[in-house]
Amino acid sequence: MKKLCILGSTGSIGTQALEVAERNGYTVTSLAAGSNTALLEVQARKFSVKSVAVFNTERAKELKLKLADTDIKVLSGAEGVCEITRDDSDIVLNSIVGIAGLRPTLSAIEAGKTIALANKETLVTGGETVNRKANEKGVKIIPVDSEHSAIFQSLQGAPEKSLKKILLTASGGPFYGKTREELENVTIKQALNHPNWSMGAKITVDSATMMNKGLEVIEAVHLFGITADNIEVLIHRQSILHSGAELSDGAVIAQLGTPDMRLPIQYALTYPDRSDFAFERLSLADIGTLTFARPDNRTFRCLPLCIEAIKRGGLAPAAVNGANEEAVRMFLEGRIKFLQIADFVEKALECVNNKKEYTLEDIFETDRTSRLLVKNSSKQTSKL
Ligand code: NDP
Repeated sequence: MKKLCILGSTGSIGTQALEVAERNGYTVTSLAAGSNTALLEVQARKFSVKSVAVFNTERAKELKLKLADTDIKVLSGAEGVCEITRDDSDIVLNSIVGIAGLRPTLSAIEAGKTIALANKETLVTGGETVNRKANEKGVKIIPVDSEHSAIFQSLQGAPEKSLKKILLTASGGPFYGKTREELENVTIKQALNHPNWSMGAKITVDSATMMNKGLEVIEAVHLFGITADNIEVLIHRQSILHSGAELSDGAVIAQLGTPDMRLPIQYALTYPDRSDFAFERLSLADIGTLTFARPDNRTFRCLPLCIEAIKRGGLAPAAVNGANEEAVRMFLEGRIKFLQIADFVEKALECVNNKKEYTLEDIFETDRTSRLLVKNSSKQTSKL
């Protein structure tokens, strides 16, 4: 029976991963979260885990007291989150949000664990480093992101080097079809109102700006060894065809399903096997129509900016990601406008001190610089 370590267990993906683990009878050895110790305590007791890690050190101290009647070990800080991946699990599912997931992915690879990867920012910021380490260690990275899981599933059985093109679908988010003028004063509530998926706040805003699709193009480049020119983004409002692969003979193979993350989560955990899926099944007759269209890259600039970043390579993807993380945080705090997110992403791409050869520390330094740029630029624009 598989043993799992789940990072980001209190989030949208993390809680669904625990549901999948329970249904499949998997053992959960350890859990990690940022600061939600109330839920983490409930999860730790329910799954009788051996250890938990809390990024927020004060919250970790509180949790230690609360779990004093158990044998559960409580680790803390960024180090604790990394250390927990060295437990006796077989698979580490990383569903931390943001670049905070990069180091834990690397420590899990170092420990030789199979990685079920939801944290797309891991590959966006550190894709080359992560792939190099995974190859050295012979570690498999299995995508959890629904689009990349769909591509991965479509490629099962396809001969090596037969992948010609990726079809990456996007719902278009809550603002599909809107003009820049109409987006000028959109509210946080409107941006968080995704038509098809229920997800954490950061990725929901990323879907509204189309940054999410940009990050996914970069993620796909690293996962499938394809160039951005060979990835076609398609707006598919129904979120039923989760993405696909065009092969050398022109055959297009895609994976379809209801918009339910529990399927790609389960596939990542059962791979290469499949277990009975006990959730809602797809009825194409009920859906009736599937539509596809080209994205509006003039209104939703984050997507072309990410494509430009991955074409430039080096530290450019880390720069756009850092600016976006900071800008989304500020948007969710009501401190900047929706359209400013793309402005800051563009500025970070213009200003990045790029280099082809770089270290892990350079990635984190680029992230810090981009965040600072957003903070400083937002102060200047609020003075105008
Ligand atoms: P959520 O915001 O719902 O959850 C994030 C999780 O990460 C929480 O458990 C949070 O803990 C934890 N966390 C945050 N910072 C840290 C840290 N420094 N150290 C340890 N844990 C931390 O996000 P989602 O579940 O929506 O998304 C997670 C990742 O999966 C993202 O990269 C996203 O892009 C990707 N993804 C999500 C999908 C979805 O449907 N939600 C679909 C495809 C990909 P706490 O609760 O304590 O803050």
